[in-house]
Amino acid sequence: MDCIFCKIAHGEIPVDLLHDDGTVVAFHDLAPQAPTHILIIPKEHHANVGNLAAASPETVGRLFAVAQLLADERSLDGHRTVFNTGESAGQSVFHAHLHLMGGRSFTWPAG
Ligand code: AMP
Repeated sequence: MDCIFCKIAHGEIPVDLLHDDGTVVAFHDLAPQAPTHILIIPKEHHANVGNLAAASPETVGRLFAVAQLLADERSLDGHRTVFNTGESAGQSVFHAHLHLMGGRSFTWPAG
């Protein structure tokens, strides 16, 4: 399977890892949409968060725990966490990933 996030998770594409606990890794988004924009992903391949939740619900919790850790490390006073599921929702990489964004104000509803 040709999955860019699998390659990052398994060290085949070198990136600056912000977190690696054996289950979950985190790294900077290539095209940041906020001063802080980090992707937090499971090492195991699942096409989206729904599939991940069905197979490994504890890993979904772990993604959010790592997001809070990274937000706290950066002293963010607020942050947004987002999973996009499906092309119509903006998903472009089909390996589940949690976006952590902060460092600016966000509008609601999301565009
Ligand atoms: P999504 O549109 O929700 O699927 O998010 C995919 C995200 O992955 C986008 O924000 C991209 O900028 C980001 N991205 C794609 N390729 C890479 C890469 N090699 N390294 C870091 N971020 C990437």
